[in-house]
Amino acid sequence: MDVRITTRAELALRGIRQDVEVERPDGAGPSDDGHVLVDGANAALPRNPDSPYTVRDGKVWLGDETGALTDTGLSLIPVRRPRFYDLTTADGTRYEQIARLHGSDVLATTVVQTCIRYAEADRCRFCTIEESLRSGATVAAKTPAQLAEVAEAAVRLDGVQQMVMTTGTTTGPDRGARNLVRSVRAVLEAVPGLPIQVQCEPPGNLAWIRELHEAGATAIGIHVESLDDEVRRRWMPGKSTVPMAEYEAAWDEAVRVFGPNRVSTYLLVGLGEDPDELVAGAGKLIDRGVYPFVVPFRPMRGTLAARDGIEAPSAELLRYVTEGVAAKLRAAGMSGADQKAGCAACGACSVLKMAGG
Ligand code: SF4
Repeated sequence: MDVRITTRAELALRGIRQDVEVERPDGAGPSDDGHVLVDGANAALPRNPDSPYTVRDGKVWLGDETGALTDTGLSLIPVRRPRFYDLTTADGTRYEQIARLHGSDVLATTVVQTCIRYAEADRCRFCTIEESLRSGATVAAKTPAQLAEVAEAAVRLDGVQQMVMTTGTTTGPDRGARNLVRSVRAVLEAVPGLPIQVQCEPPGNLAWIRELHEAGATAIGIHVESLDDEVRRRWMPGKSTVPMAEYEAAWDEAVRVFGPNRVSTYLLVGLGEDPDELVAGAGKLIDRGVYPFVVPFRPMRGTLAARDGIEAPSAELLRYVTEGVAAKLRAAGMSGADQKAGCAACGACSVLKMAGG
C-alpha cells in the first residue's frame, strides 16, 4: 500500500487547516474547495479548521493531540488569485462571476447555472448548482461573447491551459448541449486551439455529440456518478430517470466521434455502492473507452446530503477504489493527462493521478 496515496486520500476528505487564495465555495457537482498544488499536481482540498493536516514552509504536516507535527513528505503550494478576477465586462459583470480558475491552469464555467432537476424532490443530493447563483457568486446564463472575453484574458494574463464548460440541464431535448456548442465556437474564435471539455447529460438526440465535436471541443464528460440503479434513484431522483442505456449509447457515440480517451464520466465514492462492483464497473467503462473519474463524495454546505447528515466516505475506502481503478487504467494505457482537457486532465478533485491513473 502506498502511504502517499493514503495521505492524499485523507487530504481530499479531511482537508487542510489553512486559508487558500483560490476557492469555489459552491456550484455544480461535488467540489467545495481551495485550490493548491500537491507535489506539483492540481488538488482541490477542503479548508477545515478541524483537519489534522496543516501547511508550513510549503510542506504538509500531520499533527497529533499533543501538537507535535510530522512531515508527510508532500509539498503544497497554494494557487495564487489569478489576475483576470480583477476585470469586469463592459456591462458590469465581474469576470470571476463568468468563469473561475480551477487548479493552477484550468478555466471552468457553468454556462447555464440553473437546472430543471433542482426542485427538492428531483435534485442530486450532492449538488449546489443554484446556491452560488443565490449568493451572487455567479450569473445565471453566460453568453458566448462573455465566455470568449474571459477565456482570452485568462489565457493571456494567467497562462490558462484548458477550459471546462459544464451546464445545468435545460428543458429542450439537447439537455444543454446547444448552449455548449455556441459557447465552444465563440471561445475558440477568441483563443484558437484552447483545449475545451464540455460536460452534459446524454443529449436526447445523439447528433448533438457530433455538433459539440464539430464546434471544436477536445473532450466530453457525460457524468453518471453511479453505475448502480438503486444508488442512482436514491441520490439522483431526477437524473436517474435517464436510463443507463441512454448513458451507454451516449458514451459509445462520444467515443466514436471524439476518439479514444477523450470521453469521461464521474463516479462518486461514498454513495453506498459496493466498492468491488464500483471498481468492476469502472473496468467496463475503460473497456468501452470511457475514463472513469473517481471522486470522493463530500457533504458540501448547501447540499441536501449535508442537511441530512450524510458523511463522507473513509479515506481507506477512497484509497481502495482509487487504487483499483488506477490499476485498470494503467493496464489499458489510459491516463487522465491524455484527455487533454477536462476534469480527468486536471485531476484536482480526484486521487487518481497520484495513484498513477
Ligand atoms: S477536476 Fe474538474 S471540477 Fe475539479 S478542479 Fe479540476 S476541472 Fe474543476
